[in-house]
Amino acid sequence: MKLKMLIVEDEEALLDLLKFNFNKEGYKIDTATDGETALEKILYKPPDIIILDWMLPKLSGIELCRRIRKNKEHKNIPIIMLTAKGEEEDKIKGLESGVDDYITKPFSFNELSARIKAVLRRSDPNIVANDLIFEDLKLDRIEKRVFRADKEIQLGPTEFRLLEFFLTNPKRVYSRDQILET
Ligand code: CA
Repeated sequence: MKLKMLIVEDEEALLDLLKFNFNKEGYKIDTATDGETALEKILYKPPDIIILDWMLPKLSGIELCRRIRKNKEHKNIPIIMLTAKGEEEDKIKGLESGVDDYITKPFSFNELSARIKAVLRRSDPNIVANDLIFEDLKLDRIEKRVFRADKEIQLGPTEFRLLEFFLTNPKRVYSRDQILET
């Protein structure tokens, strides 16, 4: 199951770089280059995490963040804000609008990636865990192996993905289409 990431950035070179690198890290990427398009995409298909530039055409990152936080269904989507502003006051303004973390340009990709993992871990520890455990069942995401009461179970790739999906989304009901989309 790939995590859906929305990158909102109007600087094309940076957008391409982020897209390329996060794609390599295994995220399913969608992009927007202005605030309004981003908002439409979030309403239509909410991502698992949003990387949001502060200065954007049409709707600023701060305003977009406020709107997302006001929406009951989307208020918990983790948001990391990118900004050229490094002032303490701006940082406070960013955090007050509801962003989960904040990174000042220029930044290293590795630092952004680490912060994203930390934010995801805080919002849902299962999302980035290497091992998913439910009662006596253990799924190892790195080695792609499954164990029941310490005995290995053989699963095909689709069965593995389905089990992983259900283990990361417990106590929820999904339609066939929703499952196929993941
Ligand atoms: Ca910008």
